[in-house]
Amino acid sequence: MKALESLRRRLAQLDEQGLRRVRRTSDSPCIVQPTVDGRPLHAFCSNDYLGLANDPRIARALHEGVELFGTGSGASHLISGHYRVHQRLEERLASFVADHVPQAQALYFSTGYMANVGVLAGLAALDDSVEIFSEQLNHASLIDGMRLARVPARVYAHCDVQALDALLTASKANIKIVVTDSVFSMDGNLAPLPRILALCERHGAWLLVDDAHGFGLLGRQGHGALEHFGLRSEHLIYMGTLGKAAGVAGAFVAADASLIDWLVQRARSYVFSTASPPALAHALLTSLDIIEGPDGMARRERLQSLISTLSQGLRLRRWQRLESSTAIQPIVVGGNEPAMAAARALHELGYWVPAIRPPTVPAGTARLRITLSANHDPAQVAHLAEAVNRIEHSQEAEA
Ligand code: PMP
Repeated sequence: MKALESLRRRLAQLDEQGLRRVRRTSDSPCIVQPTVDGRPLHAFCSNDYLGLANDPRIARALHEGVELFGTGSGASHLISGHYRVHQRLEERLASFVADHVPQAQALYFSTGYMANVGVLAGLAALDDSVEIFSEQLNHASLIDGMRLARVPARVYAHCDVQALDALLTASKANIKIVVTDSVFSMDGNLAPLPRILALCERHGAWLLVDDAHGFGLLGRQGHGALEHFGLRSEHLIYMGTLGKAAGVAGAFVAADASLIDWLVQRARSYVFSTASPPALAHALLTSLDIIEGPDGMARRERLQSLISTLSQGLRLRRWQRLESSTAIQPIVVGGNEPAMAAARALHELGYWVPAIRPPTVPAGTARLRITLSANHDPAQVAHLAEAVNRIEHSQEAEA
């Protein structure tokens, strides 16, 4: 078949360019020291930042949830799949942002991807004149949300608040929506949210903050980027994910109650999809208690200390550790093949660190992306830093 032949040719091309993606198969539940394809590894690649994905308290709550509610929700939220425990979870999530968004309500989505496409396409349906302003390094789910929204979208350069100001000033749209990640997923740095919010207030725009890598981690109580920066505004629309630091699955959007009500009417990824299993919502209630409580605080402190261990242990000459104070610690290698070679060399030493290549990052900036978890051991992190140093120095010697 002709179409299949061209598909195979394209896959072979990806192979030649060092861009074909493959999946490694984990055999064990442990995220920081898993057995992968039969071999134990030190993994530095998950988003399980607080080490909660295997927490026995959350696992027990999930079992209990299954006992109480069974395995499936049975229908979408608007038909008959909306359970009291979903409602309780949404109330609890709203309490996480109550200090930052007046009249806050929350809506629980099955995934962060669905939350982002749902909120953008849903809000675009509000008016004939909507314009979206998007940060250059935004996550793919926000970009797909803009595509589904089918309204004019302008991209501003990474963290360039002045460029955003110019775009907002030039816009004649009735409804303006600025969209940004809070923590950039491939760089680990923070968006200048206070300055962006000040602009949004001046221009009457909404600010949608994707806090996938900040929820549970930033702020004293782990409430996320809005707590970290001490922001409060009715212009804020907050998106947090629950499959990363929270250790389970799903995501939520929190905003003014009427905006949330609108999403219940018009966010198609919410309306036309089976509600996530109520047992997950039950487990998430325990996860949120841990995040806010003393154990969550201790985990955030451990993580900060591991970040320092890594940055102090790295002695790089040509590769560059990007400036990042979060659990995402990228080391830019440059070309695709050297980055892949570095990831392979780390794998041979027993470390699982992914090489991130274009199109996920710009050409020429392929990188090792180390992610840390509160469950890592300080010695494990120090050894990783030494291994990276050795590999860089040996690649330099070969060059
Ligand atoms: N936003 C960002 C910034 C992300 O990194 C991700 C996941 N990698 C998502 C949204 C999507 O979240 P989920 O995995 O829950 O679909």
